[in-house]
Amino acid sequence: MLLGLDDTDSPDGMCTTYLGALIADELDRMGYTVSSCRLVRLNPNVVWKTRGNAAVCIGIVGGDPETVLKIACGFVDRFAEFSCEKTNPGVVVVESAPDPAYYFQALQRFCTIQETVSRLDTIHALYKGYKNGRGLIGALAAVSSVLPDKTYECLAYRKAEVLGTPRIFEDEGFFISEEKTAPHTWDTVDFIRRAIVCVPHGKDPVLYGIRGESPAWVQEAAGYLKTEEPAFSRIWETNQGTDAHLLPLPKEGPAEGESYRFSGIVASAPKTNRGGHVQFTISHVGGYISVFAFEPTKYFRNAVRELACGDQITVCGSFQKGVLHLEKFRPEELAGQKIRVSPKCPVCGGRMTSAGKDKGYKCRECSARVREVPDLSRTLQMKWYEVPPGSRRHLAKPAVRMRDQDN
Ligand code: ATP
Repeated sequence: MLLGLDDTDSPDGMCTTYLGALIADELDRMGYTVSSCRLVRLNPNVVWKTRGNAAVCIGIVGGDPETVLKIACGFVDRFAEFSCEKTNPGVVVVESAPDPAYYFQALQRFCTIQETVSRLDTIHALYKGYKNGRGLIGALAAVSSVLPDKTYECLAYRKAEVLGTPRIFEDEGFFISEEKTAPHTWDTVDFIRRAIVCVPHGKDPVLYGIRGESPAWVQEAAGYLKTEEPAFSRIWETNQGTDAHLLPLPKEGPAEGESYRFSGIVASAPKTNRGGHVQFTISHVGGYISVFAFEPTKYFRNAVRELACGDQITVCGSFQKGVLHLEKFRPEELAGQKIRVSPKCPVCGGRMTSAGKDKGYKCRECSARVREVPDLSRTLQMKWYEVPPGSRRHLAKPAVRMRDQDN
């Protein structure tokens, strides 16, 4: 039997994985056999999401579906953030996995509440939708999910009495954890910015989430951390870090809210707009698409700025509000031009500007000066360039996981 759950949280608290973990623990205690705990991320472009568009599926061996629905609904009644307008929980119980086509639709495209309810009735699922019932979409997608590629996340949750207070932890443990277990784990820290990225900042109950290739690796990585004592933790199998959201670009061009991987030619050189967003145009078989590396993607923009007209590249990203939000790119063939970007500062790595005719360059960040005109030939290699861990979408496959067949 599979139990699906979604849409229980709000920006002010809760998290559907937390509720799922509580239910799994309760089922364990009651003598049920919990055979799997799965966390799926669905279309990252839906407007209804609170944070990462997560839904959960708990696999249970044996037992009575009516009782499981009742237990799960008891937890939703008690914990869901009903006061939030955007919180519309859904609980689904099925005796066997439904057609995965619905999962792929929720992952890569859009679903309606009406079609979901009609599917639930057709497959004779037990279900309960609260308020407008939107959570039934994620709950049905979770029980319908198949993971041809999967990763794991060890999520540790905070004790009830500390919720809403700052999380207590030592930075060092996270860096040690990354050093000891990367590339088998990823997105624990951003080494370049010396930042911890696996600890959320909000009022939700997650203490940290360690992502990796197997339950053993995420468990080992969590063992290096020094934090406040978690209430409990659970290892979830997930579709995170698998690029499962990406579709090939259709001939007729991109559709709003879908995510793609495709190859094209850089048709207009990157420009940095006000606000620090870097924009260029890519041409593909069907036309032109405006591509953005937004300011929060920080040093990723330096690689994007090195692109030049005529470069052939493969890009991955989501099409939202008429532009492609770049997640990563890989140069296939460089056009051979030199670029017109200012050089990098040898002291702090920031961008330098000309200090005047024959006066070399001055750093905009730390004011360091260099006399000699640096070599502006391009440093781009034929490899994946990706946004920093802190700006990565949950579904985006990190470069460390890109294998030959992905190239
Ligand atoms: P939570 O931790 O509660 O799951 P979240 O950030 O994952 O938070 P939700 O609060 O679940 O986001 O909100 C997402 C809502 O969008 C859910 O009701 C879900 O059923 C719905 N949804 C998910 N994918 C799609 C889709 N492809 N089309 C339409 N609705 C979707």
